[in-house]
Amino acid sequence: MNERIFSVAIDGPAGAGKSTVAKGVAKRLGIVYVDTGAMYRAIGLKTVRLGIPSDDAEKVGAILPDTEVTLGFIDGVQHVFLDGEDVSGLIRTQEVSNAASKVSAIPEVRFKMVELQQKLAENTSLTMDGRDICQYVLPNAEYKFFVTASPDARTSRRYKELSEKGTLGGMTFNELLVEMNERDKRDSGRDCMPLKKAPDAILIDTTYMNIEESIDAVMRYIGG
Ligand code: C5P
Repeated sequence: MNERIFSVAIDGPAGAGKSTVAKGVAKRLGIVYVDTGAMYRAIGLKTVRLGIPSDDAEKVGAILPDTEVTLGFIDGVQHVFLDGEDVSGLIRTQEVSNAASKVSAIPEVRFKMVELQQKLAENTSLTMDGRDICQYVLPNAEYKFFVTASPDARTSRRYKELSEKGTLGGMTFNELLVEMNERDKRDSGRDCMPLKKAPDAILIDTTYMNIEESIDAVMRYIGG
């Protein structure tokens, strides 16, 4: 058995297919998949529940010491817990997406989440996806990828995903496109650990790839 611990870091904008790819690669390699977005979403959910503006650094900072976000794995599937409650089923709405994007620009939030993410990678081989994994969370990861796709392809995928889950909330394709653009702009424009392709990350454009082809594209670099 291979005892070596290694990490596969995957960054990219919303809807690029990075979580699908990261999950598929983890399955093929028999390692854990960690979705870091879920952690920011859990904090975003807490601000929504408390009625705190998600971009108010002071108010969000004030709830942080009493906020616990943890990840658990049930049958190999990641669950995110907010103050002990499994909120995995509540964090995929557009309202929480936007709240997550806002709280994630607050440095204290990021420092707390990054510390947790780094601890996870210390003892376990994993694929981890997010926005800042290659440059900030796991700068020494053995494999680094930046997964992207055209804005139209990314919106179509997210539109389909939200429709299927019934969490579209009456939003049109164009409204979703605008919202995703805004979120990407905020994620790449923030000062603290912005979304950016790391110079040593391999670019994978999944615009014209299906899921299996996208996983294959990453696996070609990893081998196995
Ligand atoms: O990946 P996902 O769309 O679930 O992430 C939700 C939001 O969390 C992103 O728009 C981004 O603002 C934030 N995020 C982040 N850093 C990460 C993962 C997610 O800032 N590593």
